[in-house]
Amino acid sequence: MNNPQFRGRFAPSPTGPLHFGSLVTALASFLEARSQGGQWLIRLEDLDPLREPPEATGQILASLDAHGLLPDEPVRFQSRRHDAYQAAINRLLEQGDAYRCPCSRKELTASNGRHPHHCRNGKAVSGDQPFAIRFALRDEDCHWQDLLLGPQHQTVQAELDDPVLLRKEGFYAYQLAVVVDDIDQGITDVVRGSDLLDMTAQQQQIYRALGALPPRWLHIPVILNEQGQKLSKQTHAPALDDRTPGQNLFRALVALGQNPPPTLASASVETLLDWGQANWRRGAIHLTSR
Ligand code: GLU
Repeated sequence: MNNPQFRGRFAPSPTGPLHFGSLVTALASFLEARSQGGQWLIRLEDLDPLREPPEATGQILASLDAHGLLPDEPVRFQSRRHDAYQAAINRLLEQGDAYRCPCSRKELTASNGRHPHHCRNGKAVSGDQPFAIRFALRDEDCHWQDLLLGPQHQTVQAELDDPVLLRKEGFYAYQLAVVVDDIDQGITDVVRGSDLLDMTAQQQQIYRALGALPPRWLHIPVILNEQGQKLSKQTHAPALDDRTPGQNLFRALVALGQNPPPTLASASVETLLDWGQANWRRGAIHLTSR
């Protein structure tokens, strides 16, 4: 199958070095793109300096490089894209799709998610009170097709679920930046961990408010550790060992259900990626952990 229009991406938040779970996600999005003759990009979602050790970006890029996962365009850094996020916020505010919200988390919890300052009517902020900017969701029963998980359904509740686009501390939020950049980079296919599945219906509304059509989605099961927890920095997932990229890729192909022949267990990065590309079957990905 050749689809040169296909554009995929891997978009890590640099909160630490890559671990095995992130390699599996990166490899799935890479093989999904390459097996269709499409393009594959890397985007660093470095929006929150307080959660990002300065060395993490370099470590992630070095790891991807060691594993032969090379992008077709220069790496994009969200930390250099603030003007685009601000322009999107201005547009959403003008359209009435976003609003200023001074509510604290405590206030919102105390009123079951309803905004005690009635933020959506546009008069909530006074003086120099700090405020976040939120997206104004519409009530919706959202249905879409996930390329792996099949038909999906999520209920979106206006006001109660409204995601933050710009945090009170002045940081642009993931929910805004991911959509702005996926639109700007012409991403046709988002392949990512199923821990982000719950965000998808909200993101589809943000796409439409910004005048774009949502991409196709493919959510892959997250990799669990022996305690059944998602591999992540919080669960102390060890960093990938970049000295054994072939072994790591072999294990990642196994984790993706691709059934590589045992003779490839000690193959080179190039051989493994070539095999992965020629034999990629998204339908073989195990669905058990979601
Ligand atoms: N930056 C997000 C993360 O690392 C992923 C974004 C996405 O793939 O939509 O969790």
